[in-house]
Amino acid sequence: IEEQFDAIVIGAGMSGNAAAYTMASRGLKVLQLERGEYPGSKNVQGAIMYANMMEKIIPDFRDHAPLERHLVEQRFWMMDDTSHIGMQYRSDEFNEMNPNRYTIIRAQFDKWFSRKVREVGATVLCETTVTELACDTDGRVIGVRTDRAGDVILADVVVLAEGVNGLLGTRTGLRETPKPETVALAVKEMHFLPEEVIGQRFGLRGNEGCVIEAAGTISRGMAGLAFVYTNKESISLGIGCLVSDFAATAESPYNLLESFKNHPSVKPLIAGSEIKEYAAHLIPEGGYKAIPQLFGDGWVVVGDAAQLNNAVHREGSNLAMTSGRMAGEAIFLIKSSGQRMRKENLALYKKMLDKSFVIKDLKKYKDMPALIHTNSRNFFMTYPKLMSQAAQNFMRVDSTPKIDKERATTAAFIKERSRWGLVSDALRFAFAWR
Ligand code: FAD
Repeated sequence: IEEQFDAIVIGAGMSGNAAAYTMASRGLKVLQLERGEYPGSKNVQGAIMYANMMEKIIPDFRDHAPLERHLVEQRFWMMDDTSHIGMQYRSDEFNEMNPNRYTIIRAQFDKWFSRKVREVGATVLCETTVTELACDTDGRVIGVRTDRAGDVILADVVVLAEGVNGLLGTRTGLRETPKPETVALAVKEMHFLPEEVIGQRFGLRGNEGCVIEAAGTISRGMAGLAFVYTNKESISLGIGCLVSDFAATAESPYNLLESFKNHPSVKPLIAGSEIKEYAAHLIPEGGYKAIPQLFGDGWVVVGDAAQLNNAVHREGSNLAMTSGRMAGEAIFLIKSSGQRMRKENLALYKKMLDKSFVIKDLKKYKDMPALIHTNSRNFFMTYPKLMSQAAQNFMRVDSTPKIDKERATTAAFIKERSRWGLVSDALRFAFAWR
């Protein structure tokens, strides 16, 4: 390739596709490079996809995109080894004309999204790994080198959408390597079952879907979460914990997943299923304080590569799509006003992002990652056990007077955490949530 492009997008995940589509559909000359065999072949997600953010890119996506189920119910479980305390919300209002959240299978969804990117005129090359960012003598990014033979491919701007473990940005010194306490390692399996069996087990009709988010002793005191998501003919199920916690405890992700699958609350949901896929992937969880520099001379970074992930709400793909779209819109505006892709102009991308839910949400929870990281044993082991004992004490009917049961529960909490510890945990949690 010897042409000069308006923009090169590295990666064909959610953020890269959003950026490439936004720019190409506005007439820019875009080259997108993906190292995978096809878009989505390297990507892992639960996966819940958020329609509002997709609609802002392709308004009629529902007419063609491969969607699994639309969500009508969400359950939150706090688990100990044999039980769970649950909260659930189900509403028939989610059975709306344009549903709000869907489960998807990324390999299929990314392929579809990439087809749309090609349809609006971008050149998409798969099985092409970008090996290096090319810079001029002033350090400005002017293009990329790939593992295919050939010279530098030139572009006015390079969009780094290379995902959480993207090596290019770190190798070039545009950002730091994510720290082990700011990334989670998640493992996931797909369990296949007939559509009607899934419907019966989760109480779903037609294309209705249900998701379960779970925390507790299943992560063995490490900071982590598990999930069970219903697809049409499969159930996605997984668990992830901070890499620093895996390193400190020498626990294996695979063992955690096995325990989760064999938990009495989960086992009946997947009984008789056929496992067809196993995947592992990192998730950026450092939040607001881990966001690197987002733009510079000739480059911007989007999605997971920019650590834009809301671990509290388990949202990532929507932040990826939105940051990709905003980077694309900013680049288009700069280009169409005849300006160059200099740092001071690309600051527009950050301005747009700052005004959006992406940065506002991450800012709201800026203290949460540190709190969770430093108190994981209390939040993921001590409290789930205490709450399970309290619930059982409350529900089990024996000859113990209720007042004695209440005293025993209070005493158990104080014994484990002390009065001051309980107040301090509550205050710190409320402070981080505010
Ligand atoms: P990615 O999707 O990772 O895409 C990066 C792309 O860049 C890849 O295709 C990769 O092959 C390519 N690439 C990397 N380096 C190069 C290179 N040098 N040259 C060429 N190509 C390159 N988010 C949600 O919103 N909902 C969920 O339910 C959810 N569940 C999740 C469950 C798990 C187990 C995991 C791991 C993540 C989950 N997420 C979820 C997060 C979500 O998957 C990510 O936020 C999202 O995929 C980020 O998109 P991205 O485009 O930034 O990165």
